[in-house]
Amino acid sequence: MVPLFIAITGGEGMRGSTNHPCFSLPTYSAYLCSMIYPWGTKRRFNAYVNYLRQKFGHRIQKVAVDAGFTCPNRDGSVGFGGCTYCNNDAFNPSYCNASVSISKQIEEGIKFQKIRYKNAVSFFAYFQAYSNTYDKLENLKSIYHEALSFKEITGLVIGTRPDAVDAEKLDYLAELAEDYYISVEYGIESCYDRTLKRINRGHDFNTTANAIRETANRGLPVGGHLIFGLPGESKKQMLDEAAVLSELPITTLKLHQLQLFRNTTMGKEYLLNPDDFLLFDYDEYKDFVIDFLELLSPEIKIERLAGEAPPKYILGGQWDIRNDQILDGIEHRMEERNTWQGKKFRLPAN
Ligand code: SF4
Repeated sequence: MVPLFIAITGGEGMRGSTNHPCFSLPTYSAYLCSMIYPWGTKRRFNAYVNYLRQKFGHRIQKVAVDAGFTCPNRDGSVGFGGCTYCNNDAFNPSYCNASVSISKQIEEGIKFQKIRYKNAVSFFAYFQAYSNTYDKLENLKSIYHEALSFKEITGLVIGTRPDAVDAEKLDYLAELAEDYYISVEYGIESCYDRTLKRINRGHDFNTTANAIRETANRGLPVGGHLIFGLPGESKKQMLDEAAVLSELPITTLKLHQLQLFRNTTMGKEYLLNPDDFLLFDYDEYKDFVIDFLELLSPEIKIERLAGEAPPKYILGGQWDIRNDQILDGIEHRMEERNTWQGKKFRLPAN
């Protein structure tokens, strides 16, 4: 596969298209006139932030909202105790607080983001904490509409579990998507059922794959979240997940090294048996995540390449480096290796 070519716009529809110059040319030396990758930028991976800028013409920032949902893997309808690594306090920004109204959280969130990113003009409400489709449809409608009543909120990103959606909810979201950008983000975490069982996810990978397909079939962008380093998985097994996920209609992916949080079942397991865990150091992770990107479809937009949480929650698996520096380091390493997302991606044989 070749990295660079003369004039490509966007990147939509590349997957499966063997006519695309990225997939069909045997060498790229004649095509080095421009350092533009198939996704239309000079970055060596298909960055979601750039995709949004291309799509909407300006930067879009997310405003996280905690709408007070719970999770079927905590309240007993699927399981108790939750996923063994889960500590929602560690994931949630400080301005998010379910005891405060959605409107107030959005006002605060927009204010916060406008200070951080002076050129941010529109925002997506990000329903992040717990399972944000886990309620009756009429309640969901009221919650989503409250967020969309702000003129600055032009879309929703709804984080949830693959077993917390159904046809009725997805049909409603597809209706909403006629007027707004509506994306559903699923916790995938692993493609291996034995891992999902071990971390007490309460669903198998088939459930994930079906939810992704059902969502994408309705024209909704689908996000996914994957963790590298879950107990029992080898590096080779984790790298093999790139091909599995590339075959699914995933729009965006967040990649994370395993971070162990205090007061979690997994944290306790780690303290009892640290050898059972692969906690990447930063240099090792850079090369690993680049290996993964090489195998991943160039069409999947990358929203995150590593995780970061407030240090007070962390037991292990976080480096003392800021997220922007981590990203710079990964991109710099990609340059050193002269590589790019999709370099080793192969279309599945039909
Ligand atoms: S599904 Fe999400 S919220 Fe529920 S226990 Fe697992 S990680 Fe936590």
